[in-house]
Amino acid sequence: MIDSTKTLCPYCGVGCGLEALPPAQAGKATNRDKQGTPIWQVRGDRDHPSSQGMVCVKGATIAESLHKDRLQFPMMRESLDEPFRRVSWDEALDRVANQIQTVRSTQGADAVCMYGSGQLQTEDYYIAQKLIKGCLGTNNFDANSRLCMSSAVSGYIQSFGADGPPCCYDDLDETDCAFIAGSNLAECHPILFNRLRKHHKQDRTVKLVVIDPRCTATAEVADLHLAIKPGTDIDLFNGIAHLLLKWGKVDAAFIDEHTAHFSDLAVVIQHYSPDIVAHRCGISEEDLETAAKYWGDSKRVLSMWSMGLNQSSEGTAKVRALINLHLMTAQIGRPGAGPFSLTGQPNAMGGREAGGLSHLLPGYRLVNNPAHRAEVEQFWRLEPGAISATPGLTCWEMITGLEREEVGVLWVAATNPAVSMPDIERTKAALKRSPFTVYQDAYYPTETAAYAHVLLPAAQWSEKSGVMVNSERRVTLCPKFRSPPGQARADWAIFAEVGRRLGFTKEFAFNNAAEVYREFAQLTHGRPCDQSGISHVRLRAEGPLQWPLSGKTEDMPSELKAEGTRAKGARIEVEKLQEKKPAIQPAAITPQPSKRLYTDLRFHTPDGRARFAAYHSRGLAEPPDEGYPYVLTTGRLYGHWHTMTRTGRIEKIMKMHPNPFLEIHPRDAAAIGVKNDEWVEVRSRRGFVRLPVLVTKAIAPGTLFVPMHWGALWASHAEANALTHPACCPDSKQPELKACAVQVVPIDSK
Ligand code: SF4
Repeated sequence: MIDSTKTLCPYCGVGCGLEALPPAQAGKATNRDKQGTPIWQVRGDRDHPSSQGMVCVKGATIAESLHKDRLQFPMMRESLDEPFRRVSWDEALDRVANQIQTVRSTQGADAVCMYGSGQLQTEDYYIAQKLIKGCLGTNNFDANSRLCMSSAVSGYIQSFGADGPPCCYDDLDETDCAFIAGSNLAECHPILFNRLRKHHKQDRTVKLVVIDPRCTATAEVADLHLAIKPGTDIDLFNGIAHLLLKWGKVDAAFIDEHTAHFSDLAVVIQHYSPDIVAHRCGISEEDLETAAKYWGDSKRVLSMWSMGLNQSSEGTAKVRALINLHLMTAQIGRPGAGPFSLTGQPNAMGGREAGGLSHLLPGYRLVNNPAHRAEVEQFWRLEPGAISATPGLTCWEMITGLEREEVGVLWVAATNPAVSMPDIERTKAALKRSPFTVYQDAYYPTETAAYAHVLLPAAQWSEKSGVMVNSERRVTLCPKFRSPPGQARADWAIFAEVGRRLGFTKEFAFNNAAEVYREFAQLTHGRPCDQSGISHVRLRAEGPLQWPLSGKTEDMPSELKAEGTRAKGARIEVEKLQEKKPAIQPAAITPQPSKRLYTDLRFHTPDGRARFAAYHSRGLAEPPDEGYPYVLTTGRLYGHWHTMTRTGRIEKIMKMHPNPFLEIHPRDAAAIGVKNDEWVEVRSRRGFVRLPVLVTKAIAPGTLFVPMHWGALWASHAEANALTHPACCPDSKQPELKACAVQVVPIDSK
């Protein structure tokens, strides 16, 4: 019998179940790589309810990346000019703890920053929150999820009173009409795309609408592709809302009983007649009307989105404008219907639940909510007021904080900001000025390691136990099934050890990840993301489980049994939204185990009603002009993952996508005077890249596309973020990585 381990794919937020098989048992002979190292085999887990045995090329080849270029030992240096020297864990951890202590006492706690990642497991996130926000007293923990889906978080909070995707993957099999907005599902969430595509093929009455400036692999199979101009999403959604209202396709009873502020929206959408919207979006009136007709005539409408909406200086408004359509037509809380944000990273969801953004606390609590802070302080047995009332720095604010010399310690874990942040040359210059950077990662070299003073080797997926939560709120246990290389340790254990060295011994007296998760799960009791009924033991016995899944109240710590704590929190949560209407008695909400949220049509607002939002678009933060006449958009390729830290080390994937490129429409290529494979320099106000062109009608005239994966380690002058700018959404603080103005000139050679 083959001794396999069930786990989760550690790449994207689809969260496919995997089965890992030891090298000696995977076949007749031991599988080895070219260097002769035995490698584990990985295949889809047929029993995993989210993926049912399916797996894409990234998941299928993950084992190849596990032993290549690993950071195995702690390393240190005094300045960036020096080479690293190997040191003991004691020396490295003492150095980190001492530096934090010194900076806290000289500059204050807010000079300490940690930047984490959706690659971290929930246990890692939780311990980091307890250390930074609880013990150190600063909220300066942010994660790369800020670059990925923080607009979805703020959109959900503002529309529904709490974060959390309302839908589940079964909805893809049950919908009558799917709107995919700003998401190349076929390449970025391929297993979800396969599922939707199967349903779409089997039932030809099902409509598929794709909204994307590019004709992606997803758009190619759509019944209707709306190739809107970049940045016109709100105009489009308001235009559809205009037609639904005009045609009487709204659900007046639902609006009346379950929502608020529809009248504000009705006033705004009067200005979005089809001729105006079609002109602004660059589509035909006929296509706009077809989209509205599909929505209005379908019994069950599902919308899915990711970076195309989120990575925008008006990301929250875009998300809410899309949610408006669901609210006006009662398309929520039912099978096959609802707004469904797709997370990019494997545990971005778990990170949100653990409080892993600088304005959050564990259990979908908010830093600026006094009741929420008090609940967490009590639970962590801290002095009242120990948690700062000020939201911490976002990742981009950490960069500008370095520029202003206000950051004394920057601790980066499991992410690669020297490639993924906007305006990368400015980011690198800021990292260079950092007085003390700790870089905790599984791999070496990476682009960010070049800016570190201390390197801490992290165990990664397969080498430590912990949970990850996918886009449909499904919690999967990822058990340890192999030893980490060298002296690498679990991220949560590294954070806890620094905490103990800072004197917080009781707070970090955990023996294993199961204990860490148990404490976190208790802290979610009674909250919208209630996981108090989930444990490592239960996950091992029953397999993956969806939250909300509440535990018995008698198992909860006494602090969380107190009546009314949650209700108080809910009221203040909505005060943050600057409601115009007087506060009403908060709704008593007890999360029930459910595949879908809001099946009872009660939302997490004081009166249980969802909120409409009325927006006019402000357009792109940097529109094209005479000097920079093209709009550049960025995105992902099927095989690569983020900054290629893993996939750049996998032969099959590098063969699939060996080089970066610039997509350009034939008309623009002719105007510039370049042919396929010829090289151009693309310049923005911040930097330049040099790339060969891919001439294709898949991209609209006036728009260009560059994949975002390549950093300086893998290609010279090919970083998409050399061009992007850091303008952020005022609510979500998510940067507009999806659009900037550029010019293009031909060059003779690379
Ligand atoms: Fe992994 Fe995502 Fe591919 Fe599934 S779709 S195998 S989670 S990368």
